[in-house]
Amino acid sequence: MSSEVIHQVTKAPSHQLLGLYIHVPFCSAICNYCNFNRGLFDADLKARYVEALTTEVARAGDEISDNVVARRFRAAPARLAADTIYFGGGTPSLLEPEEVHHIIRACESSVDIAADREVTLEANPESVSESRLRGFRDAGVNRLSFGVQSFREDELRRLSRLHSADRARTAIDEARAAGFDNVSLDLMMWLPGQSVGQWLESVDRAIAIAPEHLSLYMLEVYPNAPLREEMARARWSQAPDDDAAEMYGEAMARLEAAGLEQYEISNVARSGRRSRHNLKYWTDGEWLGFGPGAHSTRGGVRWKNTSSTEEYIDRVRAGAALAVDLRRLTPDEQLGDALFTALRLVDGIDENAIQTRYGVDVWRRYGADLERFIEAGCLRRDGTRLSLTRQGMLVAHEIMTVFV
Ligand code: SF4
Repeated sequence: MSSEVIHQVTKAPSHQLLGLYIHVPFCSAICNYCNFNRGLFDADLKARYVEALTTEVARAGDEISDNVVARRFRAAPARLAADTIYFGGGTPSLLEPEEVHHIIRACESSVDIAADREVTLEANPESVSESRLRGFRDAGVNRLSFGVQSFREDELRRLSRLHSADRARTAIDEARAAGFDNVSLDLMMWLPGQSVGQWLESVDRAIAIAPEHLSLYMLEVYPNAPLREEMARARWSQAPDDDAAEMYGEAMARLEAAGLEQYEISNVARSGRRSRHNLKYWTDGEWLGFGPGAHSTRGGVRWKNTSSTEEYIDRVRAGAALAVDLRRLTPDEQLGDALFTALRLVDGIDENAIQTRYGVDVWRRYGADLERFIEAGCLRRDGTRLSLTRQGMLVAHEIMTVFV
């Protein structure tokens, strides 16, 4: 990396407000495919966790317990400012509305939160009711993201989910009744034994519910996932790659026809309803993560909190460092991450913005490696904007390796 780029990176200003991520590490049951950082719900653990979490949030503004991070923050000239809060998990909807209220107030007391904030809570359909949702709304949540995964009963059972398709539909009705006008659904495709037609049934049912936002994920069966054994026992397999490509392409076509515009590889939204928080991850933004296993990126430094919930609570109580894997990114890593994540967006990479922020001519540096993807119809270059075609989105990881 040239000294010119090092200079550009170190002087590049943060161009967005922060996002705050709050991790809620428990679930009512553990799904057979899950590899997130979570454990079984326990009321006593939850109470101790909420107390520790609010303590960690309260320290964000002045006294982060890790010295290196603390130096980073003390170097910042102004109070921290954010415009999104995202409760992810785990199952954040297992928190009581008063606990969510308490956590949001803790965020407000240590960070300046913009008036037009986006505050998202991930919710599982079986853990909500209209009155609980009303409580979350009163607490300051203004966006819900429901983990629906499928509208077919057989698929929900196969994934060991606790809710039924009917419960998912009812939960969304309850959200509307509670006043939420910004609702996202997660659906999962390429499930074991799932045909293209069965997948599209879930897509059509989601469209009929008219959410503002949808995230479509392809199921990844991890080596130690219990689902892998169940698949072997029941002789379920995932559809061939060609079918997966059809699932993806046809779903996107139907969603777009229904007014949900694709803006990222896995995400579609109605106008003005893109996830402002998640966009920070894809547009070279900065965020602070709170809770066990939460990741943060700020001022060219990246760190992760200790993953164990018990250890996290003990460390917060003792005022000990929470961060593990803390390190300053090299200028090359910052540039690589900015390119890698921007390519996930339908808008792609703005070469002029990269030139301004990092002092790098993207095409001059990577053009020779990218040319073959353009010839294969996976990548397009319009002026100084590089973006994936729909076909390219299916092989995005291969293309992204050029940048890392
Ligand atoms: S609800 Fe989500 S986080 Fe919890 S076990 Fe299931 S997939 Fe994992």
